[in-house]
Amino acid sequence: MVLFQISEPGETKLQRQHHLAVGIDLGTTNSLVATVRDGHAQTMVDAQGNHHCPSVVRYFADSAPVVGQAAKDAAYQDPLNTIASAKRLLGRGVADIETTANKLPYEFSGTDCGMPFIQTVAGDISPVTVSAEILKTLMRQAEADLGGELDGVVITVPAYFDDAQRQATKDAARLAGLKVLRLLNEPTAAAVAYGLDSGSEGVHVVYDFGGGTFDVSILRFSRGVFEVMATAGDSALGGDDVDRVLAEWMMAEAGLSGEIEHSHLRRVIGEANRAKEALTTADSVSLSIETTEGSLWQSTLSRVNFEALIEPLILRTLRPCRRALRDAGLAVGDIQDVVMVGGSTRIPRVRECVAEFFEREPMVNIDPDKVVAVGAAIQADILVGNKPGDEMLLLDVIPLSLGLETMGGLIEKLVPRNTTIPVVRAQEFTTFKDGQTAMSIHVLQGERELVTDSRSLARFELRGIPPMNAGAARIRVTFQVDADGLLSVSAKELTSGVESSIEIRPSYGLTDGEVEKMLADSLLYAEDDVKKRRLHEQLVDSARLIEAVEAALKMDADGMLTNKECVTIKAALVALKEKQQGEDIALIKAAHDKLERATSDFAARRMDIHINEALSGKLLDQIVD
Ligand code: ADP
Ligand code: MG
Repeated sequence: MVLFQISEPGETKLQRQHHLAVGIDLGTTNSLVATVRDGHAQTMVDAQGNHHCPSVVRYFADSAPVVGQAAKDAAYQDPLNTIASAKRLLGRGVADIETTANKLPYEFSGTDCGMPFIQTVAGDISPVTVSAEILKTLMRQAEADLGGELDGVVITVPAYFDDAQRQATKDAARLAGLKVLRLLNEPTAAAVAYGLDSGSEGVHVVYDFGGGTFDVSILRFSRGVFEVMATAGDSALGGDDVDRVLAEWMMAEAGLSGEIEHSHLRRVIGEANRAKEALTTADSVSLSIETTEGSLWQSTLSRVNFEALIEPLILRTLRPCRRALRDAGLAVGDIQDVVMVGGSTRIPRVRECVAEFFEREPMVNIDPDKVVAVGAAIQADILVGNKPGDEMLLLDVIPLSLGLETMGGLIEKLVPRNTTIPVVRAQEFTTFKDGQTAMSIHVLQGERELVTDSRSLARFELRGIPPMNAGAARIRVTFQVDADGLLSVSAKELTSGVESSIEIRPSYGLTDGEVEKMLADSLLYAEDDVKKRRLHEQLVDSARLIEAVEAALKMDADGMLTNKECVTIKAALVALKEKQQGEDIALIKAAHDKLERATSDFAARRMDIHINEALSGKLLDQIVD
């Protein structure tokens, strides 16, 4: 079930009043705000009549920051205090952004919490604060237009945003004083804007190539509901990179080194951006940039040559497309529509490549830079309660599996990758040792089988478990991922009711590179992993058996075993312990089986005598099973 019916009990009766709600596309390059008026969703304009607000903020020493076009225009003169592309840094740690930061002209300072701050004349500014400024500007614009305070907003995020990035987006909204009804994945919003839900049944691809990010989602529409089947993407690939590739080419042609001043570099990138956008309609464009000596370099670039330059970037977008198809278990022939989203999908060659890849013409009839805000507005209108009887919500999927560390350094995946959210999954675990009173819970994210190859999200402890036999405690661990993709984990010992929980708020997130690597590794190492997993499982099994046999010997050897039996069991015990040191699964298993056989009579005798213990604990079961 993927479309949610959300309706507070009794609420429908009260919903006669119209609530003010907007959808905000908080983009890397441009942000937009949209609302539903008289049943139609439309983007709102600022005082100058612009739909797009460039996601740029300029800071001053002793006055309020300036947001949008004015800030963007000033970027040349004041590059260090004019922050663009803050979304690339949102929710990232200092270490995560090292490669990104190198490409940005700002001075960074790290902090204790691992968050990068940008040094400006107004002090050190976090990417969350920059985003909050943009949101505030759009909020004021919307409130002036609608004539009242907003009741709620839906803010869109790339489907690939991890927990920390989503959390940072929510923090920015809170800073701006906005009530977030929900975070919504951008491609999902686009599907809503296109009204794919009112069309026929089928599978749709949303291809979103913006200024800073690339996302692809596969959505299935059937029996009146949408299912997000898979998402993939690259949040470090967008039109900015197209500009950069073209700028680098121009610099090489003009004989400029990479060591030029920030403001000069910005002007070159600005020229590249202008040329790129012009080439969407023109067959060729004239270029001109200053050289380091102050003279002008001039040239002409044809669309054909431009396309050849940027082809590698376009091809890079097809990799996630392939992966999403594979995850969804689909072939190109299964796709009904391909929806184009993001300003970079205006580039004719992008459309051609996408058409070639998916073997059909993509849908381009809605302005690709507005479609996300429009979809967010439609969702906001529903969530705020303006459409009783039509409370539908699209669900999204999580990008990487979530799980727990279990014995032997293995991961038990509770929520597999691409599970639709919100989701709640619970699983029971037990104690390993007799009398164990605490259990350490280690939450992990990743596709591999072993803890050491995964990302650690959090650790917490469940204490106060009453002492019991190994295997008798019943610890229920629950993973809850909310509609915004944020995770909380709780653990409860069921017989005693002892409880503990944690909300996962990592100080920084996974980079796409890491996500890509984790996914690639999981395929590459799958066979190796299975072997390691079997070895670990065998080791854990045997360790349990050893522990149980030792406990039984201590308790009942005297009187229940003959000397000879005792020697045989002890020999088998020593043999198994010895094999446990090695890595040969077959040898360990053989020694394990031998110990089991050697103890089976002993176990049966103990069972007869301690029948009650056999019922209350697992100790004896383990010897006989
Ligand atoms: P984001 O979602 O990342 O904020 P947008 O969807 O607004 O981005 O797309 C911005 C990108 O689209 C920029 O890199 C911009 O240069 C590019 N773009 C906008 N118009 C055109 C065009 N006509 N041709 C090519 N690229 C364009
Ligand atoms: Mg966008």
